[in-house]
Amino acid sequence: MDVLVLNCGSSSAKFAVIDPASSKEEVSGIAQRLGSPDATLDWKRNGTKESRPIPGAHHEEALRAVGDLLAELGLASELIGVGHRVVHGGSKFAGSMAITPEVIAKVEECIPLGPLHNPPNLVGIRVARELLPGLLQVAVFDTAFHQTMPPVAYTYPVPFEWLEAHSVRRYGFHGTSHRFVARQALVQTGLSPENHRLVTAHLGNGCSCAAVRDGRSVDTTMGLTPLEGVMMGTRSGSVDPAIIGHLAGALNKPADQILDALNKKSGLLGVSGLSNDMRTIEEAAAGGHERARLAFDIFCYVLAKSIAALVVPLGRLDALVFTGGIGENSVAVRERTVGHLGFLGLTIDPDANATHGRGQDGRITEEVRPQALVVPTNEELMIAMDTAEIVRRS
Ligand code: ADP
Repeated sequence: MDVLVLNCGSSSAKFAVIDPASSKEEVSGIAQRLGSPDATLDWKRNGTKESRPIPGAHHEEALRAVGDLLAELGLASELIGVGHRVVHGGSKFAGSMAITPEVIAKVEECIPLGPLHNPPNLVGIRVARELLPGLLQVAVFDTAFHQTMPPVAYTYPVPFEWLEAHSVRRYGFHGTSHRFVARQALVQTGLSPENHRLVTAHLGNGCSCAAVRDGRSVDTTMGLTPLEGVMMGTRSGSVDPAIIGHLAGALNKPADQILDALNKKSGLLGVSGLSNDMRTIEEAAAGGHERARLAFDIFCYVLAKSIAALVVPLGRLDALVFTGGIGENSVAVRERTVGHLGFLGLTIDPDANATHGRGQDGRITEEVRPQALVVPTNEELMIAMDTAEIVRRS
């Protein structure tokens, strides 16, 4: 009873075969450098890594190679469905959907909102439907969890026609991760599913926070695109949009080049001039690198300010959840960020934080209510669980 989970990007396709009932991952991997002579299919099974070249492969050949691999491993016959990660569902999807021609048409309509992500997601859907015609295919949207935000949270204070005519509003992303860790946090804290107020902080290469009230997202930091909100690896997060016009004039460059720099050359990388990787930043800061230290300081400061702001829609805080590569692994980021939030009643427990809260169900604060805790995310498992649920109902 396995599910094939697919996440197709512009030049890569990540895949995993997961049993949603047991959470067991049978195999996971990535076809990368697609379209180049160096394209490879890399996978991990039972802790062993393997790789094979697939020179020149595009998505179609790569997914065919994944299909061949699953057949070789004896996993193809166990599949009950395919779950696809789709980045932008606009306002059209508030939950995961069985893929039909109508759903595909709506995902295509969302391409202007997610021009980088939705086209490769659609390629993955098309190819998987051709290669695995007997299996139900499901789309799981990054934006769907945040569709419960009220207008006061998702409406930008800009001309209202921009919303009506061009769908300009806050959508939010990382929804699958926020939803997964919010659910898991209830198990770890014992909070009631009907009555809880959480802030979830997904801190990976992209970073976003969400306010979750009784299982529903009521606000989040990312916006129309994943550029808004907290500081990230290469993205600036929220800055004054007048920067774009100012620099376009000063540098005599088109606005989209400045926007590109806000997406790809800013954040930890931009401030430090060194790296987008938090491990490198922490090491350099410890070694006395001034701009790495500043990058670290800004990251935690902006993060703490954003977390505090998300307590406004919640009215109170029961738990602050750290997840993603940084949230799950960076002792220093959690310590500093929680340190800024003492006024909410949070005090770091240094020993628990040093071991990522293992041993006390993830909790890294002295207090139990409110508390900060670490919850490892698993977006692939969430996609597999949604897919299995839709297969069961169909
Ligand atoms: P993605 O968003 O691409 O899935 P991840 O969730 O894997 O990325 O997060 C990547 C980030 O996690 C990087 O900035 C990396 O430096 C950071 N990270 C991973 N391990 C540690 C660690 N031990 N200490 C600090 N940062 C870490």
